[in-house]
Amino acid sequence: MPTCVVKGCNNNSTLQNKSQGITFHKFPSANEKWKDNWIRIIRNCRGQEDWSPSKSSVVCSIHFDQNDFYTTSKGRRRLVPYHAVPKLVGYAVFIIRRF
Ligand SMILES: [Zn+2]
Repeated sequence: MPTCVVKGCNNNSTLQNKSQGITFHKFPSANEKWKDNWIRIIRNCRGQEDWSPSKSSVVCSIHFDQNDFYTTSKGRRRLVPYHAVPKLVGYAVFIIRRF
C-alpha cells in the first residue's frame, strides 16, 4: 500500500487514515511543469537531489491547504489542476497538526 513520500510522514492508505479524512494523491501527469514543482518540493524536503517519483508515489492530503482542493459533483475531493502543490512539508506540519 502506498505511503506518503514526504520526509517524516508515514501516512499510508490504510482504512484508518481514510476514515480520518486523509486522502492520497498521485503525482500529476497532466502537466510536466506542475509535476516538476511537486518533484522539486519533495527533493528539497528529502534532501535527495536525484529523487524521482514512481508510478505509485503519493502525497497525502495533510500537506496541502484548503485552497488546493475542490469537491467533485460526486463528492470526491480532488486537487485543483495546475495549482495544487504540497506546501506543508518538513517539521512545521507535524507541529501544526497536533493542535
Ligand atoms: Zn504525508
